Amino acid sequence: MRKICELCHSENFLNFEKSDAKNRTKLQISYCQKCSLIQQKDIPSNDDLRIYYSHNYRQDYKSTYSPKPKYIHRAGLAALDRLQFLESSIKLSNQSLLDIGAGGGEFVYMAKKHGLNASGIEPNIGYSEFSQKQYSAEVKTAMLSDLKESSADILTLFHVFEHMANPKNVMKKLYDSLKENGYLFIEVPNILQKDSSPHNIFFKAHLFYYSKFTLNSLASQYFDLIKVNDDGNLKMLFKKRTMPSHQQLPTLEEVQYIADRIGKKGWFEYLFFGGGIFKPFLRIEKMISESLINRLSPQQILDKLYAERNEYSNPLSKRNIKRWGGWSSAGGLGFLCFEAFC
Ligand SMILES: [Zn+2]
Repeated sequence: MRKICELCHSENFLNFEKSDAKNRTKLQISYCQKCSLIQQKDIPSNDDLRIYYSHNYRQDYKSTYSPKPKYIHRAGLAALDRLQFLESSIKLSNQSLLDIGAGGGEFVYMAKKHGLNASGIEPNIGYSEFSQKQYSAEVKTAMLSDLKESSADILTLFHVFEHMANPKNVMKKLYDSLKENGYLFIEVPNILQKDSSPHNIFFKAHLFYYSKFTLNSLASQYFDLIKVNDDGNLKMLFKKRTMPSHQQLPTLEEVQYIADRIGKKGWFEYLFFGGGIFKPFLRIEKMISESLINRLSPQQILDKLYAERNEYSNPLSKRNIKRWGGWSSAGGLGFLCFEAFC
């Protein structure tokens, strides 16, 4: 069967072979020379994907139904960053938020704690039951295709969209599932990011590899772009259009830019421009902070992170006053030493 680009319908591909980051099996990857979207050569059917995500996916990658404390800790930190990203553009109150592919429910729990009317759907029954049991989170076992129309003020998809076949149909479904003036927040791995090791880019489960240009192009028929952050992973916030419009493909300059950036990807860029050289030190710091939470329950881990983030963001918190005290004492001491030697 002939392959046609999911974004621009071109048949003009460069094909190459890569290895899956987890189990090193071979993957056939296609790069569209017209629009620059990178995609797997063979896209599974929706039925195959439903079976895979309902039963196998979590075990393939994490070997367990219940996440380890360190994964909950990481998911909690990511949830706080995502709430901050949302809050920098939207005044959050008690809007209805639906997290699609909610995993263990950490974001739903944090968003609820933050005052949102948050719920989620997750195809894997083990994970949706975990979030109901551990966080009393409203996470149903379901896929996007099970959603009713016009149900949420905000839809979120974190590291989910790259797993979905037929991304254009998915955008239409997301448009129909949002209320008027609703927001869509998508986070995916960023094919242009410099901080991912060349061994850690291609995955069997990732059907598409997006840049801000290709993801914006896919959304452009139904959504206006509000905010983008592509420092590491790609975070994009969109607002629902009043009426669907025409799709805007990436411009020639953007396609050229993506081709140039992809040409530069490799170990040199990762180590010296993506911070790869510092990763072993950061890993030690991470191991220390994660070792402190091993005896806490999943909910206690998230509560602790939420309380700490609030304390740091409040300038009048005791912790910050103590920090300023420490810095001003250190500054004072430094000034005295300087005086003594001059
Ligand atoms: Zn294309």
